[in-house]
Amino acid sequence: MPKKPKKTYLISACLLGLATRYDGSHSCSPRLRRFCRRYRLIPVCPEQLGGLPTPRYPAEIRGGDGSAVLQGKAIVVDKTGADRTTQFICGAIGALQLADLFQVDGAILKSGSPSCGVGSIRDGSFSGCHRSGDGVAAALLKGHGIPVYSELKLPPEIISRRQSSLKKRRSPG
Ligand code: SF4
Repeated sequence: MPKKPKKTYLISACLLGLATRYDGSHSCSPRLRRFCRRYRLIPVCPEQLGGLPTPRYPAEIRGGDGSAVLQGKAIVVDKTGADRTTQFICGAIGALQLADLFQVDGAILKSGSPSCGVGSIRDGSFSGCHRSGDGVAAALLKGHGIPVYSELKLPPEIISRRQSSLKKRRSPG
């Protein structure tokens, strides 16, 4: 019987341990790295794709969320006050191109980021406070019908598979 093709997800590169974060670090999730064996994970860093260097100044969305940025109603600024909106939009478009190219089943993105955040992002004050909303890349992917998840809320098939393997391990057999 032919093997079922693996589900394919775009994933924030920093979650796989790549040093793409603004300060040159990563947000490695050992649990997600293990999923590489079972799923096809396509790493992407929208901020690097948009042409920003690493390391770079941290950035936040001012005046709204990622959807507002895409509508021209909010901007992305870095900590020096420089407008980085263009780079963030270019990076989001690059992520969408990859999603199309690989015909992904969804995207697993890093929570809280002005690019990748899903459902909650920093509020633009650089004070550590959050507001509801998505980052720019997450908003663009969602707007094109791509299911978007985070490392805190994984795709349902990954969660159910994990739960059944945990059950198997716990059962005395
Ligand atoms: S833009 Fe996304 S992938 Fe790149 S460092 Fe930030 S959270 Fe990670």
